[in-house]
Amino acid sequence: MRVLVIGSGAREHALCVALAADPAVTALACAPGNAGTRTLAESLGAAVGDPVAVAALANGWAADLVVIGPEVPLVAGAADAVREAGIASIRPSAHAAPLEGSKSFAKHLMAAAGVPTARSWPVGGAAELETALDEVAALTGGAPFVVKDDGLAAGKGVLVTPDRAAALAHGNAVLDAGHAVLVEEYLDGPEVSLFALTDGRTVVPLLPAQDAKRRDDGDDGPNTGGMGAYAPLPWAPPGLVDEVLATVLQPTVDEMARRGEPFAGLLYAGLALTARGVRVVEFNARFGDPETEVVLPLLETPLAGLLMAAATGGLDALPPLRWRPGAAVTVVVAAPGYPEAPRTGEPLTVPAGEGYLHAGTAVAPGGGVLSAGGRVLAVTAVGPDLAAARTAAYERVAGVRLAGAHWRTDIALAAVEGRVTSPR
Ligand code: AMP
Repeated sequence: MRVLVIGSGAREHALCVALAADPAVTALACAPGNAGTRTLAESLGAAVGDPVAVAALANGWAADLVVIGPEVPLVAGAADAVREAGIASIRPSAHAAPLEGSKSFAKHLMAAAGVPTARSWPVGGAAELETALDEVAALTGGAPFVVKDDGLAAGKGVLVTPDRAAALAHGNAVLDAGHAVLVEEYLDGPEVSLFALTDGRTVVPLLPAQDAKRRDDGDDGPNTGGMGAYAPLPWAPPGLVDEVLATVLQPTVDEMARRGEPFAGLLYAGLALTARGVRVVEFNARFGDPETEVVLPLLETPLAGLLMAAATGGLDALPPLRWRPGAAVTVVVAAPGYPEAPRTGEPLTVPAGEGYLHAGTAVAPGGGVLSAGGRVLAVTAVGPDLAAARTAAYERVAGVRLAGAHWRTDIALAAVEGRVTSPR
């Protein structure tokens, strides 16, 4: 099987590592890739935001399967263009994509499917915004405000704040930018990311993971694309995955099929385990980053066949997934200034050996590696348990050299110390 991965982050590097280890994969390419993926996969150039260019690339390279990582090509309809060229793609069609691209679409779908989520108030103008903030405050009795940009905002369009003036300012800024706003009920309780592969009918959940979205230790500082992650979750209630499959994933996939827009590909549910039960925070239609970096190293079942079955049908015929025992931790090494204004183009030293997944790197003109993004590396390790995986990941981080780099020192720490409690 010839597999083409689209993207240039640590998620795509993790996908390339897993695909390169699958004996069914006879050729692997990544477009545009980074300094890490090029050691495993042929690097192909492409304007990955352009669906026609992605399809032409897949065709020209004779791909059997295209795995699209980032969100932008998804919304642009790259998966449809690839499928029209007769090539399998692990991405839902543009019709199914609003499940990720539009929060209000997702809310309507969840209401129709009976999937539990936060109550929400769609807002189209400044006066409505004031009213929605008052209503949510009256209903939740002093909980923080949650104000969201309705469209794609790379994980940065959401403000969670106890400060009404800040909530109002964020909402108005989003409205001024011409986007709709969604005000939401605050969901307390630990967050869980659960990925599932689906062919539009059968749903196969992967392992639950948790990511760290804030920049600084103690979940402080601004939101980022993700500063680290771990899997599985030692504190998760038994039966969580089965419950989410029955109450969230399967009803969502069934509702899309009922609408004649079957969702085939990777469905990512961001969940909050609240005192009142599991609630969906968001859906994504792609592998999450950095959770992919900890879920895939634990997957023993070869990845390519699984992705092909999701893309083309037949997941029900596959045997149950096999997982390696133990746990995985990834720590994101970020460029100085990330997330506001990352400084890139700096020389970077990455030790030899496994676990250094490249997130934002490029090959320097004279050889060597340069930082090329806000998140530079996702440094990952697997261990017999979470504590061991965490120690090994931080030992690897200590070998990285990048001027001004920063990373969180507390990834998975609360879980290791037994300080994460699920409300049930
Ligand atoms: P989203 O873009 O919807 O995934 O939101 C980004 C992050 O904001 C989530 O991962 C949560 O950490 C936080 N968040 C979003 N919605 C809520 C909510 N209703 N209650 C509490 N936190 C939220």
